This record gives sequence, C-alpha cells and structure tokens, in this order.
Amino acid sequence: MDGPARTHHEPLIQQSTYTCAGMWWAHCCRSIITRPNHTGWCSTQDDAQALIDWHLAGEIGPAPVGTDVPLQLDLFV
Ligand SMILES: [Zn+2]
Repeated sequence: MDGPARTHHEPLIQQSTYTCAGMWWAHCCRSIITRPNHTGWCSTQDDAQALIDWHLAGEIGPAPVGTDVPLQLDLFV
C-alpha cells in the first residue's frame, strides 16, 4: 500500500485454525508481531497480549516468553 510510513497501532489477537491450530498470534502495524528470534506463536491468549504489550512499548527489552516454533510471515492461519 502507498502512503506515508506512520506508526499506527491496531493490535489484533488471533487464533490459528490451520497452520498451528489452537495457537495464538498477534498482528499489528501491518505485520505479525515476532520476537527477535523470529517466533510469534503464543500458547495462550494472555501470552499474545503480553507480546502486544511488548510491541506497544517499543519492543524494548526481553520479549515475552513463547513457543520456539518458527512463525512464517506468510502463514495461512
Ligand atoms: Zn503496532
């Protein structure tokens, strides 16, 4: 999409029904929120919320703990 690059947070928590059924993930800023190790799956909705809180805080400091399962940015949820 065209337009000025602006940070506009619209965090969204979703639960996978296909790729990693039952796992949670969070979306914001037109992309999936991932940890520095490129994982983004969360075992619980609370974990996903923690990931969003970390993102909204500027992704500073250690990321919330989650699963080590790699999350592909083109995942089919
Ligand atoms: Zn955001």
